[in-house]
Amino acid sequence: MYNPKSRCADEFINHEEILETLDYAWKNRHNRELIDQILEKARLRKGLSHREAAVLLDCDLEDKNQEIYKLAEQIKKDFYGNRIVLFAPLYLSNYCVNGCVYCPYHAKNKHIPRKKLTQEEIRREVIALQDMGHKRLALETGEDPVNNPIEYVLESIKTIYSIKHKNGAIRRVNVNIAATTVENYRKLKEAGIGTYILFQETYHKESYLKLHPTGPKHDYNYHTEAMDRAMEGGIDDVGCGVLFGLELYRYEFAGLLMHAEHLEAVFGVGPHTISVPRIKRADDIDPDVFDNGIDDDTFAKIVACIRIAVPYTGMIISTRESKQCRERVLHLGISQISGGSRTSVGGYVEPEPEEESSEQFEVSDQRSLDEVVNWLMGMGYVPSFCTACYREGRTGDRFMSLCKSGQIQNCCLPNALMTLKEYLMDYASPDTKEKGLALIQEQIGEIPRERTREIVRERLMEIEKGNRDFRF
Ligand code: SF4
Ligand code: SF4
Repeated sequence: MYNPKSRCADEFINHEEILETLDYAWKNRHNRELIDQILEKARLRKGLSHREAAVLLDCDLEDKNQEIYKLAEQIKKDFYGNRIVLFAPLYLSNYCVNGCVYCPYHAKNKHIPRKKLTQEEIRREVIALQDMGHKRLALETGEDPVNNPIEYVLESIKTIYSIKHKNGAIRRVNVNIAATTVENYRKLKEAGIGTYILFQETYHKESYLKLHPTGPKHDYNYHTEAMDRAMEGGIDDVGCGVLFGLELYRYEFAGLLMHAEHLEAVFGVGPHTISVPRIKRADDIDPDVFDNGIDDDTFAKIVACIRIAVPYTGMIISTRESKQCRERVLHLGISQISGGSRTSVGGYVEPEPEEESSEQFEVSDQRSLDEVVNWLMGMGYVPSFCTACYREGRTGDRFMSLCKSGQIQNCCLPNALMTLKEYLMDYASPDTKEKGLALIQEQIGEIPRERTREIVRERLMEIEKGNRDFRF
């Protein structure tokens, strides 16, 4: 039976409830009156239920679809302004005991080179990332209790935070590792991680079991209940996501929102972020084998409907997507993007020859971080390297209440401008620097409070003098 408050995955991601939702959404896909009611509710910016959002996703009335896109854009502007936060993935190890059929790191893939970074190699990778200008990382490892035990992950986090190269520093480490125990989540929390990220891959249990035929990840319930254990372990910022293309997107969309509703119902705080990866080509992986791929139009609709359904949840898009695709969905709801990414183990220091690639997926957007920053500014966005919230203890429900009341806005823009200035002073190309300095001048005027504006001006001067790491 469907029960968002249950701690059992089969009840909070209930198959029958999803099927009924999809049936309801399909039958109402041109029910103008109902769609108007849902849009009316969505305009209150308090979110929608999975059923309501599923109706919008299926809606096939052209004028209403335009309203959906417009509303998503407006909500994005209201909550996130024109800021886009930047991050990079860091692959520590591609040893993995699981059999995920869509991932080149699956245990049976014998021709991919297996690599695990030593602490010294991590140091070099982090210096390379700092020299690009990154402040926020997402750690990635395969699941392997022998090669990548929790102690290795913890030691690596410590190494990463300890490195201060020139003016560089990694200020927030988000972690994307396999589902684990409450005790291990507690250790990650103590190590100072930002968000714990775990993609569900698919919420469809039957497909999940087939797509994960071997290894500990085969246990659907253990995997699906991981966020509950993370929250119990004290990690209150968690990041959800599905891998679009594995199952029918309508099913995944409903499951994703039910997961968010479950976390809200049990812990009073929904996911901090939602990622929207689509399956991509990689060694031993042909995306055409998966016949649930989605086109760019559907992808844009999904992004817009997630934005409307969970306005307070950040949305992430990676370099799996091309420049064109990223450009299209940024204004519909994306708040964080990766830039200058390498998806291979050790790829920041030494780009690998193609035949020896340890990449998890092919990067579509191959541009450097400087090019991405420049491109964002060219489209009127403010690139932000802000990591302030978690460092100021603004996590979980504390963060969400500031977000819901709109007060977080008083921090986001000033922090974006100060961290952008750091980037411009330390890492930018001359053209990016020139554009960025002009953008900062223009954006200071957008800070609502006079006193905050004054402080930001003072701190921007301090940054010019060589001081770093100011935040609200
Ligand atoms: S998706 Fe993760 S768990 Fe699965 S094979 Fe790849 S690295 Fe291993
Ligand atoms: S102030 Fe907080 S919410 Fe705003 S950009 Fe920085 S970390 Fe994110």
